[in-house]
Amino acid sequence: MDTDKDKLDALAMRAAQFTTGSALVKGLKKGLVDFFQQPKRILSTCFPVEMDDDSVRMFQGYRCIHSNILGPGKGGIRYHPEVSANEVGALATLMTWKCALIDVPFGGAKGGVACDVKQLSDGELRRITRRYISELGDNIGPYTDVPAPDLYTSEQTMAWIYDTYQALHPGRNNLAVVTGKPLDLGGSLGRSEATGRGCLVATNHFLELHPVAGSSGVNGLTVAVQGLGNVGGVAAELFRQAGARIIAVSDSSGAIMTSAKEGLNLDRVRGHKKETGSVVGTPHTRSITNDELLTLECDVLIPAALGNQICAGNAEKVRSRLIVEAANAPITPAADKILQSRGIPIIPDILANSGGVTVSYFEWVQNLEHKQWALDDVNRHLEEKMQFAVERVIGRWQGLGALPDGNGFAVDLRAAAMSLAIERLAKVSVERGIWP
Ligand code: NAD
Repeated sequence: MDTDKDKLDALAMRAAQFTTGSALVKGLKKGLVDFFQQPKRILSTCFPVEMDDDSVRMFQGYRCIHSNILGPGKGGIRYHPEVSANEVGALATLMTWKCALIDVPFGGAKGGVACDVKQLSDGELRRITRRYISELGDNIGPYTDVPAPDLYTSEQTMAWIYDTYQALHPGRNNLAVVTGKPLDLGGSLGRSEATGRGCLVATNHFLELHPVAGSSGVNGLTVAVQGLGNVGGVAAELFRQAGARIIAVSDSSGAIMTSAKEGLNLDRVRGHKKETGSVVGTPHTRSITNDELLTLECDVLIPAALGNQICAGNAEKVRSRLIVEAANAPITPAADKILQSRGIPIIPDILANSGGVTVSYFEWVQNLEHKQWALDDVNRHLEEKMQFAVERVIGRWQGLGALPDGNGFAVDLRAAAMSLAIERLAKVSVERGIWP
């Protein structure tokens, strides 16, 4: 079988997921469907930047707001050679559904600059950022559109964004123009771990309400994590602390596994990665391929790296009992159907990895209130929001006739989650009179 056959670009994948979710929303008018499928606005800008060698290069930047029905746009800014209008459009759409589901008062947005960070100096990146943000002008702002970090942008980038915006709008509190800032510059405690922590909270609560392999929590379960970056690395550590056994992890160089009863020694794995740049070769582990990791027998599989990892070609071979989508779009729509028919539940990305945008929202609130919350308060509020969203999704899923494990599911969790998000946006669109 051609394993790549069903891999879709991000926009096509979101459109397919929207179609499945919207079919479950009663009375959704076709006009509203069309309205939700189109981004509200995509700004494209081409700008010159002076390089270190005194030459001048042109860069292409974008910022898309898919929807601002629920509030200001919210979404990351990425720096990557493949950034395009299509890509930011798809990712902005994802943000709309994520914010609607987790219930933060934001719409969906995303932006980026097409560039290769690895070929640029810090000075060049700073000048690109300043020029890009000046070009966006008042299209971003605390009450219009609030960026955050994404691929190859960091706290440092957010600090430059804040500083540029502040220079253009002096004399007022502008901290809430961007989230993911350094702690000393209005960042929130708990933001950098929030996505991984949210995965743990969502998984534990899901298992409490829908036990898998006889277990009502992650304690004692075996877990494989693809990608040991910001999200996967934090998730692996927090799942371990909660009593799970991490039996395999990977990075872009390959994967490792252990058959030791206690699971991988994550301190040793991190130490080896720090020393050599890769998890592969960590003492007392066995090397496997990333494909093998995805099909290992385990209780929970956490894809936390890239999109399109589980597709029609390998979905039949997946042997985990539950999948938690820490990454965005790691499972294709064709693979969704296969896993659904096999009765393997998937906690979908718009739920599983929404911890990041939730704590971004907390950062925005703290900035507007001139306050800094204690870490315990951030984590408690995160837990409440995630648990409530899990309950709503499971309630909808069961209400739509989810069948017991072993017989497949009539509806998958993604469709249930999407239908809730679409329903909310439809309701507010009508309430606001945006849609007659
Ligand atoms: P990151 O760059 O910190 O980590 C990515 C990890 O994936 C790295 O360990 C890298 O080595 C690994 N990787 C890359 N290619 C791989 C491959 N072919 N096989 C296995 N591993 C591979 O990124 P991140 O911030 O952890 O984001 C990971 C995913 O989570 C992305 O899909 C991102 O969109 C999504 N996400 C991140 C956040 C967040 O707060 N950072 C929030 C929501 C969603």
